[in-house]
Amino acid sequence: MEKIHSLLKRQLKKLLGDSYSLPKELQEIFKAINNAYIQSDIDRNMLERSLDLSSQELLTTNTELQKTLSLLNATIESTRDGILVVDLTGKIISYNTKFVDMWNIPAYILDSRDDSAALNCVLDQLSEPEIFIKKVQELYAQPDAESYDLLQFKDGRIFERYSRPQRIEDKYVGRVWSFHDITIQKRAEEQIAQMAYFDVLTNLPNRYLFKDRLNQAILYAEKYKKLLAVIYLDLDEFKRVNDTFGHNFGDKILQAVSDRLEKSIRKIDTLSRIEGDELETTVARLGGDEFTILLRELKENKDASRVAQRIVDLFSQPFHIENRLIFITTSIGMALYPNDGRDVDTLLRNADTAMYHAKEKGRNHFQFFSEHMNIEVLERFSMENSLRNAAYKEDFQLYYQPQFDSSTGRIIGVEALIRWMHPEKGMLLPDTFIPISEDSGLIMPIGSWVIRTACEQNKAWQIAGFPTIYVTVNISGIQFKQKNFLESIAQILLDTGLEPQYLELELTESILMEPTETTFNTLNELKAAGVRIAIDDFGKGYSSLGYLKRLPIDTLKIDRSFVRDIISDPDDRAIVRAIISLARSLNLKVIAEGVETHEQLSYLQEQGADGIQGFLLSEPITLNSFTQLLKKEGQLHPHKFTEYIKTEDSFRI
Ligand code: C2E
Ligand code: CA
Ligand code: CA
Repeated sequence: MEKIHSLLKRQLKKLLGDSYSLPKELQEIFKAINNAYIQSDIDRNMLERSLDLSSQELLTTNTELQKTLSLLNATIESTRDGILVVDLTGKIISYNTKFVDMWNIPAYILDSRDDSAALNCVLDQLSEPEIFIKKVQELYAQPDAESYDLLQFKDGRIFERYSRPQRIEDKYVGRVWSFHDITIQKRAEEQIAQMAYFDVLTNLPNRYLFKDRLNQAILYAEKYKKLLAVIYLDLDEFKRVNDTFGHNFGDKILQAVSDRLEKSIRKIDTLSRIEGDELETTVARLGGDEFTILLRELKENKDASRVAQRIVDLFSQPFHIENRLIFITTSIGMALYPNDGRDVDTLLRNADTAMYHAKEKGRNHFQFFSEHMNIEVLERFSMENSLRNAAYKEDFQLYYQPQFDSSTGRIIGVEALIRWMHPEKGMLLPDTFIPISEDSGLIMPIGSWVIRTACEQNKAWQIAGFPTIYVTVNISGIQFKQKNFLESIAQILLDTGLEPQYLELELTESILMEPTETTFNTLNELKAAGVRIAIDDFGKGYSSLGYLKRLPIDTLKIDRSFVRDIISDPDDRAIVRAIISLARSLNLKVIAEGVETHEQLSYLQEQGADGIQGFLLSEPITLNSFTQLLKKEGQLHPHKFTEYIKTEDSFRI
């Protein structure tokens, strides 16, 4: 009974007094009531406990949720993508700051969640808004679709766009748009592609791209039985222009040339073309001053020569660069598919060979490839090899051609002229091997050999007691520009014991045109050392004569070509007169070379040329013959030309 509810207990007490006893049947009822109370207490306790528990759980779940949400927000904010979440009708649900930044959407539009205003703002910025809007519509019609796209902006930016459906359980509730700015990456990719395929200076396709296009053109031509031509083009004397005016100037020329080529080739080629645009002509720069052109869809081989002639003509107008008008010519070689080659490398090589021949033929020309050219290339190659061998074995000889004083007829000097004693071909003249030796670098050992031999010989004549004369030696430009050129001259003079005033160096006009600091230094040092300096082939050059005043030179040698026509051509006569009076005003000696007739001799004497050199008086002769001549010179008295001329046969070889 203790457990009976206290309220009921109290009521029973009131009713029955302190000492009550319940009838038996009532006791049963009370027991049941008591149990019911107990049960209800248990239930209530349980209920309270469970209520207690669930609020605890709610609290933890809530904190968890908050954490997740903040993590999500932080993630969304920290990504470099712009993110926009919309519901199924397109209404804006959420977005991150990056999205606002990327699209420059005013805050008031986003705050208002006005999706159509936001969309307009987006469309305004795109270069192809119609495409975007079409895509958006498609995606609203297909809530489960994912899509990816690139967006091009009017201001040049490029975005990647992803769109994914948003789901809750299995239901689509909206869509997440994300945007990624890939402008920088795209630009870099473009730049790399540009650099890999295009020449940086001229923006023309480079060698790599040219070969690729040529390859495609060959495949096409093979399939449809077409003709095509590869044109190889090289500017004439570009190196000289570059050396003279500097590399910046040279670069500008290359750009101007590439402009002119590209513009005109397009025009020219459309004239000879039958079909559409995808078969574009390619003008490419292979490097240096070398360009190539691919002509497709030729009707006949003749078309190629027409185009080539037009290219040659393109260069008839001067280029206007940095306030200078400059004339540039080009040499062009051409190889045709399928006749001259069926693959990229052969066609290019043969066009190059043909170009080389065009150059040899006197520049400003074009030349088709022919098979015998390859033979010549091989010959040149073997020539270079045997020349290397000759340089090693010193298979050379010097021939000597005297220079005479024009009034006294005395020998004043001698030009040393190299000959190659070829084991099979016999004696070779310098024009056949000096250019090869210059290209191959062999001019250095060969050139030193010449200087040394000439100095040694002159010293030997002096020791033998012959009249003292200077020996003059031809110096190639490449040789002159060598760093150790000065030292090697000094060393040779020291070794041979020849005094410097008995050595003269003949430099061509091109070395001395627009001289650089180094040219000046070298010349001044030579001068200071006492070595004589002559300008060879004078008058053939291109420049003004103004530079002469600033150079420490002793002698001008009038080029043979002027002397040759001195009698018949009044222009040449005028040039010779001008050179002589110029030389006089600058206190320089003038030597006329290539004097072959009496008329030429008397004219030059009349005009006051100081020295005379030429076949009329003596060809270049062997060491022995020249020594004989010197011996005779010592005995002649007085010296008159007539004596040489009368007896010329006796000292000719
Ligand atoms: P260059 O310096 O103009 O030499 C003169 C050339 O004219 C020589 O030809 C000579 O034989 C020729 N000649 C002389 N008198 C007459 C004449 O009255 N009529 C005609 N038609 N020709 C005449 P060569 O010996 O064949 O030399 C050719 C060129 O080779 C030289 O022209 C020179 O530039 C170069 N050369 C010769 N020897 C050397 C050398 O040792 N080193 C270098 N770097 N070049 C050399
Ligand atoms: Ca010479
Ligand atoms: Ca000469």
